[in-house]
Amino acid sequence: MLFSCFDRECDPFAFVLLKRFSMLRRMLVRYSWLDEQVSAILSSYWNRGFPGTASAAGIPAGPLAPWFGDTARAEWKNQHFAMGPVGYLLYSASHYGLCMDQAYNVYQGNEVPYNVLTCPFQYLKPLVRAGVFRRRSDILARTRTELAGVGEVDFNMLRFTLKREKGKKFLCSLWHATLAGWSNSLLQAIDYAPSAACRCGHPLHTFHHTVWECPLTQPWRDKYSLLALVDHSRFSTSLAAGIPSMLSADINTCP
Ligand SMILES: [Zn+2]
Repeated sequence: MLFSCFDRECDPFAFVLLKRFSMLRRMLVRYSWLDEQVSAILSSYWNRGFPGTASAAGIPAGPLAPWFGDTARAEWKNQHFAMGPVGYLLYSASHYGLCMDQAYNVYQGNEVPYNVLTCPFQYLKPLVRAGVFRRRSDILARTRTELAGVGEVDFNMLRFTLKREKGKKFLCSLWHATLAGWSNSLLQAIDYAPSAACRCGHPLHTFHHTVWECPLTQPWRDKYSLLALVDHSRFSTSLAAGIPSMLSADINTCP
């Protein structure tokens, strides 16, 4: 989550994926006679059912790679061995739910495919990184209780919002927007706090209590009077946590 809040990609595995895609593009543009050879290698990986490969119709060779920490990951890794740079590219891509056919089209779920060779070079990295974001949203929605069923997170909007804040305000926004802002009730749920109570004496210290109820934060509410007009109970799961989700194409389902 935190990795998606920075302008530059800081997750080492995603960084390597971006480098591998841009390297493939540069190599094929510079040495165009390698095109057929690399295409044949992609075809050979596809025939072996290697992760990260796709048919010409965009059908992936297998299920997504188990995420880091998944108990099935060790067994999955033992079944697939990359034999060279193309294999390592496919291997990295499969971790983020991306797959490529032998014509260099990149697919991900129901997204519009793009071509590594023909898309404008300046768009290649943003397109690949958008895929990384989508996979991260998927992992977040499945593994973080606070974001269960949240759908796709709008990381660009989140980054834009964080950029507007400076100094302490930025740190405070980052703290909440990355779900790092723990409350006593959450800490107690994982046995890291002796009590779920707030310092004011209220038995449950939660995000909602801190922002809208706690007498200790009354000066904030006096300063930002608009807070009183916000109906927290109508927030979507992601908005309640301070995280923007992608707008839906269907106007009736917009959060
Ligand atoms: Zn309180």
